[in-house]
Amino acid sequence: MNHQDYRAERDDRLLRYAGRQLDPNRWICLRVDSEYVSTFSGQAAFLTAATLLGRMSPSVALDTPNVPVIESLPWQAQNICDLTLKRLYESDPHGNFCERPFRDEDFLIHLGSEGAPSITHGIGWYAYVGPEPSPIPTTVEINPVGACLAAVIAAARLFVHDFNSPSFTLLLNAFDWSDASGHVDSVPPLPGTLDLGDIWMVGTGSVGTSILFFLTLSTQNFSTTLFDMDQVKRLNITRSPIFTEDHIGLEKVEAARKYLHNCGVTSVRAEPCPLHESAIWKQRQTGSPDLLISAANELNVRHGIENQYPPIQIYGTTGQNWQAATIRHIPLLDPCSVCLFPNTEYSKTLCATDTNQRSTDLDNEQVDAALPFLSFAAGLMATAEILKLTLPEYPFLPNRTFLNTLPEPRFVSASMKSRKGCLCTKRSNSIHSKLLAGSRFAHLSARQRD
Ligand SMILES: [Zn+2]
Repeated sequence: MNHQDYRAERDDRLLRYAGRQLDPNRWICLRVDSEYVSTFSGQAAFLTAATLLGRMSPSVALDTPNVPVIESLPWQAQNICDLTLKRLYESDPHGNFCERPFRDEDFLIHLGSEGAPSITHGIGWYAYVGPEPSPIPTTVEINPVGACLAAVIAAARLFVHDFNSPSFTLLLNAFDWSDASGHVDSVPPLPGTLDLGDIWMVGTGSVGTSILFFLTLSTQNFSTTLFDMDQVKRLNITRSPIFTEDHIGLEKVEAARKYLHNCGVTSVRAEPCPLHESAIWKQRQTGSPDLLISAANELNVRHGIENQYPPIQIYGTTGQNWQAATIRHIPLLDPCSVCLFPNTEYSKTLCATDTNQRSTDLDNEQVDAALPFLSFAAGLMATAEILKLTLPEYPFLPNRTFLNTLPEPRFVSASMKSRKGCLCTKRSNSIHSKLLAGSRFAHLSARQRD
């Protein structure tokens, strides 16, 4: 297969959604200043930006000190440039990835608090894209959200404006998804030791694997069970931070299990079948799991989940109009997922069928997940909400937040409402409470009934 055919196959969803690719001959230079790259935040931003840019363009140059990956991130002690170049070529063997200094003709994404006319910077819950210097004070926080969000926003703007990004300033507080308008407030840090318990994921497609990518940047301290019956195809790679050429033909859950294992997450079960056929799901015990990430729509999966009195659910979605979102369902408090998606019964995903047959219809919800930065954004936003579960103040936000990337990034939080006559209105609250007992986040439901 020549490079052109390879790229056409790999970028199928991107081309159908946006009608264009980035010019493959235009170089993007990802530069990190030497101070920022020695920090957790700088390395999380770099790993995210490189992973995403390499799925958007074959011409990415890395201009950063080749320092060891720091403790608490996956792949610790490996040199960050060597590691990143290896991973970039695994995702695109035809790419032109290299390590070299910035050149004037490059499109520059500069990670750091200063050092370029436009910078990309994040620490803790804060993300900043705009003119130097960054308003975010330098602190040591093991929280990748702000840093990774700044990287995703910078990459999204590069694509939206097709290398002609106008000057722009955004300081975002991802703790409450507010535009901070240039002012950095004190927000609660994450606990020093993160333990997320037992997480089950239904659907390890683009958004699901994006959540796994950002979770492992945050902590490797969780166990997980992954449900998905599909196999990895080449066109999945651009929208997933973890799938590579080596995974093509493998079951998605097996590819994800391998990735997690390499990141240091050792307790992973891969269940390559539809949820309703899974013995693990059917024999689910009271209080298990602690959290359900439901990142799939096919085969009536939401009805199947909601009929079985699920624990708290958090996930991300990508939508039409270049939009991403994160959604939360706390049992007995929030509307359920069928309130929100009443008409997804028995609709198959593209992933489950021949990909060449159905994708001319842009109204098909699965084709929406077609831009790499939207999947990354949805995964990161969902991960942020999952991390907030560890804070005593939770829940302190509406149950749904959108990111609009057109014409410029903007976050909007708006709670969804219960749907009259939905199956959740007929469920027994007392049965639900009993089935939640013992799960890590059951108190969120109990608190609301008082
Ligand atoms: Zn409902």
